[in-house]
Amino acid sequence: MAQLIDGKAISAQVRNEVKQAVAERIAAGHRPPYLAVVLVGDDPASASYVRGKAKASAEVGIQSDTLTYDASISEQELLDIVQRLNDDEGVDGILVQLPLPDHIDDRKVIHAIDPAKDVDCFHPESVGNLVIGLDGFQPATPAGIVEMLQRTEIQTSGAQCVIIGRSNIVGKPLANLMLKKGLDSTVTVCHSRTKDLPAIARQADILVAAIGRANFVTADMVKPGAVVIDVGINRVDDDSRERGYRLVGDVDFEAVEPIASAITPVPGGVGPMTIAVLLQNTLRAATGA
Ligand code: NAD
Repeated sequence: MAQLIDGKAISAQVRNEVKQAVAERIAAGHRPPYLAVVLVGDDPASASYVRGKAKASAEVGIQSDTLTYDASISEQELLDIVQRLNDDEGVDGILVQLPLPDHIDDRKVIHAIDPAKDVDCFHPESVGNLVIGLDGFQPATPAGIVEMLQRTEIQTSGAQCVIIGRSNIVGKPLANLMLKKGLDSTVTVCHSRTKDLPAIARQADILVAAIGRANFVTADMVKPGAVVIDVGINRVDDDSRERGYRLVGDVDFEAVEPIASAITPVPGGVGPMTIAVLLQNTLRAATGA
């Protein structure tokens, strides 16, 4: 039986720490940290993520506003809004919810955010700091995974860490974090062109799946005793549920759980950690630490 890594509980711990730190700052005479969230268009998933971020912020004493714009907003208008937020000393963190409408270049908008307010850690300067191992904002999902590993006292130093998936928001930044001094893993990143991926995965002491394919990681890809981190969030049809589907990860949980030494569930694993790191980043933006 593997240890279940409880993302909900660990996320609650992190949020509590942020809440305490915010309360201490306010008691010391500072204003609350302030996060500006920019939402363009009416994509229901984006709207739901943004509501979650606003609610989590309020719960820890971080003030936030969601600035909502019609999908027809021009790229220049959006760049001007980002510039205003950059110039506003009352704004600590800026988050532009992606994806943006097709006529707006995501990269231009992300590049326009002041790196000192880049709580999503998407700006090239933030990514560069991460790669060379400087302190700064943390990429939300990868840093959430690291928090889980550390708070579960999983040995990362010298561990073989295999990450499946090379996206800019999960695989690549996680590889850089796991390589950092202090974490000291030996990292391999696999992707859709990797040859004999199962053989590489089987070498992992820490196996991370961030692919977006339901039940991709099967038991034969996991070394007995490995720690398995499942980042995937996939919908599979399920008529027994009122909404007609359920969420599963990239790992075949039923088959892998008996082999692993520790494993994250989906839902309730990596997912809850992402917002917790956003709150940490917003606090960091306010304190300038
Ligand atoms: P992405 O689509 O940007 O990248 C997927 C990666 O998987 C690519 O690098 C691709 O090379 C690799 N891949 C695809 N098919 C493969 C195959 N057959 N073999 C090997 N590699 C393959 O995805 P992403 O944004 O990194 O997200 C991955 C998954 O994680 C999705 O299910 C997403 O919903 C989930 N996710 C969860 C959280 C969270 O908070 N829990 C955050 C971000 C993403």
